[in-house]
Amino acid sequence: MNTVTLEQPGRFAHSGTVLPTKPGPGEVLVRVTMVGICGTDLHAFEGTQPFFSYPRVLGHELAVEVIETGDGVEGLKPGDQCAVNPYMTCGVCAACIRGRSNCCAKMCVIGVHTDGGMRDRILLPAKQMYKVEKLTPMLIPLVETLGVGIHAVGRSGVQAGERAIVVGAGPIGLSVIEFLKLAGADIGVVEQMPERLEFAAKHHGLKRFYPSQEEAKQEQASMLVFDCTGNRGSMENSIHLLEQGGRLVFVGLINDQVSLFDPDLHRKEATILASRNSTPAEHHRVLDLMESGEIDVTGWPMECAPREKMQERFPAWLHREAGIVKAVVDWS
Ligand SMILES: [Zn+2]
Ligand SMILES: [Zn+2]
Repeated sequence: MNTVTLEQPGRFAHSGTVLPTKPGPGEVLVRVTMVGICGTDLHAFEGTQPFFSYPRVLGHELAVEVIETGDGVEGLKPGDQCAVNPYMTCGVCAACIRGRSNCCAKMCVIGVHTDGGMRDRILLPAKQMYKVEKLTPMLIPLVETLGVGIHAVGRSGVQAGERAIVVGAGPIGLSVIEFLKLAGADIGVVEQMPERLEFAAKHHGLKRFYPSQEEAKQEQASMLVFDCTGNRGSMENSIHLLEQGGRLVFVGLINDQVSLFDPDLHRKEATILASRNSTPAEHHRVLDLMESGEIDVTGWPMECAPREKMQERFPAWLHREAGIVKAVVDWS
């Protein structure tokens, strides 16, 4: 079968690999139909993804079709379309026991720590699969993307009417905005790229939108600040957008130190929260909201490229060209 491996930063290799064997107990054999590309993949391609080892088959935001199920697998049959929970967790660490499997101490992410979905067929544990009834395959990989947003908004404990500002309007920032809207927050956005800023403001009907944190700082501070940039300078400055007693959520991450001037933190008695991944319960909620239409991402500026074009398009996605917020590769 065809497999695409990221051999080293900047270089994919196409190879023929052996088809997986029959699924064992509790496993399913699936055909990959769509692979979403996110910051993690782009950083791996660029060589800036922390704790990443090469070669690696990328692909953690997946849409798949069930081909065969192993013994003991219930609720799935050949032909079913599914989203995949890429987070394989241990179930026994302190985090898992407390229902916070999103930060499992032994977290293994399919397509990051172990080989992912950039191949024709893959064997997966059935418990990682979510059956999808109504979504087009192109939107299925966004379950993971939106999962990051629902988790971050959950971490913040947002209340209806609360003033919030989202820094960074890429796919994660947009995901956060979707769930803040659902919660009834009063939302503002900061984004340097004009196309992204315009899209976020128009699509969500936001009245407060700023091309820089400096400009946002001129106005009333927010009780909630979500930094979705993964940019050190931005993460260090986001605290200046925060109201007294507010909560700052770091959604984007960086492989670096982030330093804050302690009086800024103490004067405001700020709460700083990190947000990582998402839980299966949150994935189910995202799927329900997508299928009911309460969350509708069909208007997002997306590009769906055939897999033959992926290598060629990757640099453009890396450099966020042409306002594309989300790239999906058609693997079928
Ligand atoms: Zn992702
Ligand atoms: Zn665990």
